Amino acid sequence: MTDRSAERRVETTLTRVGRCSEEQYGFINAPIYRGSTTLYRTFDDAMNARAPFMYGTHGNPTVAHLQSAWTALTGGAGTVILSSGMAAVSFVLLAVAKSGDNVLVMDTAYMPTRRFCDEFLRDMGITTTYYDPLITAEELRSLLTKMPKTTALIMESPGSQTFEVQDVPTLTTVAREFGVTSVLDNTWATPLFFDAHGKGCDISVEAGTKYLGGHSDLLLGMVSANAAWYPKIKHTLSLWQCTPGNEDCFLALRGLRTLYIRLKEAEKRALDLAQFLQNREEVLRVLHPAFPECPGHEIWKRDFTGSSGLFSIILRPQYTLKDVERMLDGLQLFGMGFSWGGFESLIMYYDCTANRTATTFAPGGLLIRIQVGLENLEDLKRDLVDGFKRLRGEHQH
Ligand SMILES: *Cc1c(COP(=O)(O)O)cnc(C)c1O
Repeated sequence: MTDRSAERRVETTLTRVGRCSEEQYGFINAPIYRGSTTLYRTFDDAMNARAPFMYGTHGNPTVAHLQSAWTALTGGAGTVILSSGMAAVSFVLLAVAKSGDNVLVMDTAYMPTRRFCDEFLRDMGITTTYYDPLITAEELRSLLTKMPKTTALIMESPGSQTFEVQDVPTLTTVAREFGVTSVLDNTWATPLFFDAHGKGCDISVEAGTKYLGGHSDLLLGMVSANAAWYPKIKHTLSLWQCTPGNEDCFLALRGLRTLYIRLKEAEKRALDLAQFLQNREEVLRVLHPAFPECPGHEIWKRDFTGSSGLFSIILRPQYTLKDVERMLDGLQLFGMGFSWGGFESLIMYYDCTANRTATTFAPGGLLIRIQVGLENLEDLKRDLVDGFKRLRGEHQH
């Protein structure tokens, strides 16, 4: 039989990977395997570690199914899974850097990533140098020449609040020239909209908490790696033995089946809502990679195959934090929350002018981030229109 899997489109792949009905009495989905210890058949097997699974912390079929599905989706050599997105980020940082090393981190880093570098890595004797996410090849070359102790280039594209799109293929090429490991936080695009390994990343991290889970009911961190790095991160995990929850892996496999249609729908809705917001007089500009005024838009057009449901808007300068408070407090459908990728719409104010050290962010107004859920779009717009009335100080009675 010829293997035609390479010809399959991604939505077909999503229905096939990470399951084996023949091994599950014909049932489509595998059950959740729970367990601490596994039994060896013979003394000889135990002495020679001959078993499909060695021990609970080394994995079980539930975890293995999700690993194989994610590997198929990312095109990496293998996957390890941690208990949250941030656990995955910190795990990778500690796998790619040791005492005395320097890591390059984009100035738009996810805030907990930045805190981990500034506090934990610093105390481990690992320095962090922040760089402009829009850095050019020449600038990166000169930075790496000046900092020979650099072992890793950390990227996040686009930034999850201000949405600068990074030139990942160029940056990974330069990193390789210097023997520097390239790591991407690919949470926004997911492997469906950005091919991290195909664009040169050694390691790609994704908060499975977001779109993979898709229902705001789990925490998970996915780490895929190329052939050079997979054995190393697999070994690192076997030392840490910090396994993900079995129930969470099961839910992630379930989320995986609908990932394509949910993302396509999120894309369509976010574009519609972003356009609606761009036309509002209260809005100065929209920060969405698919919009021309977003920094790195041309790179997004070149490298990505879609856009997801998270973007930001900048309000006109006359609006104050007090106005934003009135707007957000009265919303009926948009919830205020940090995470995203679920079925519910979310809205959040962020002060992105603070916490930067390599660049400045002065967008000319306050920033509000929006995640589009699955509610009716007209209902969502009405909620925002009412919110804008409160923003402008027109009180309803
Ligand atoms: C949410 C998020 C994480 C962390 O995921 P958790 O599972 O919440 O720890 C990491 N990176 C980005 C870009 C995220 O949005």
